[in-house]
Amino acid sequence: MKDKTIFLCAICNINSGTCNEDCKFCSQSVRYKADIERYKQKPIGDILEEARAARKNGALGFCLVTSNKGLDDKVLEFVSEVAYTIEKEKLGLRLIACNGTATKEQLLELKKNGIKAYNHNLETSREFYPKICSTHSWEERFATCQNVNEAGLVLISGGIFGLGETHTDRLSMLNSLKELDPTSVPINFYHHNPALHLQPNPLTREEALQLVRLTRQTLPNAQRIMVAGGRELMFGENWSEIFDYGANSIVIGNYLTTPGAKPEKDKEVIEKLGLKIATKV
Ligand code: SF4
Repeated sequence: MKDKTIFLCAICNINSGTCNEDCKFCSQSVRYKADIERYKQKPIGDILEEARAARKNGALGFCLVTSNKGLDDKVLEFVSEVAYTIEKEKLGLRLIACNGTATKEQLLELKKNGIKAYNHNLETSREFYPKICSTHSWEERFATCQNVNEAGLVLISGGIFGLGETHTDRLSMLNSLKELDPTSVPINFYHHNPALHLQPNPLTREEALQLVRLTRQTLPNAQRIMVAGGRELMFGENWSEIFDYGANSIVIGNYLTTPGAKPEKDKEVIEKLGLKIATKV
């Protein structure tokens, strides 16, 4: 594992908590009234500051996230403007957009403005999805991922474990991901919020590690298996064991609505293990 290079990614919630969909795991849905910060558009100056800080902290990926079902003209314009502004700074970041369902044309517009990759998670299996969301279909999610591939953007797609899905559902989701052939596979572990109608994540630490391994084994061609939301919750202080189980990427800093560890601390852990932090994609 010593020659392993770890890819760091930071996420920026550029529009928070305004989504009308009913995904049961998501505190950004307006339906559950979770106690989170909500705003329509983060000021571009603040986003730029976060982008600079992310690069300084070693992140190569910088993901612009919006809380909507998908792109519409207004969101597309906002994300494009933000991407264009950050690109002009030449910070050396790879810009990722994560804005829900999207057509190929919308994705091409983002690409024109500097977006290199698009993150759209399948979340869970086709079979289990109707139990966690009734306002849109899993098939729409899969189709967006296909659009990403067709638009020539780098596809980032993964899911969430710990929603109450069975092991068969997990295998089904991973096999669907395999069909899409994503470059990077973010794995999230459900972080319970009392306002949400789901039961807290039932996974043990050992089960979660085995799921990282299973993801790596099912998607051997993926360049990155990224442990994203729920890392601290699931693995605690000794989270770096995820690298032994096949992960080679993490999200640093805060998550969308929950705080993360200090990036300096994460970097220190990685360097102590003798691993390199990626400096180019
Ligand atoms: S569509 Fe996205 S932002 Fe909206 S509720 Fe579902 S997961 Fe949350």
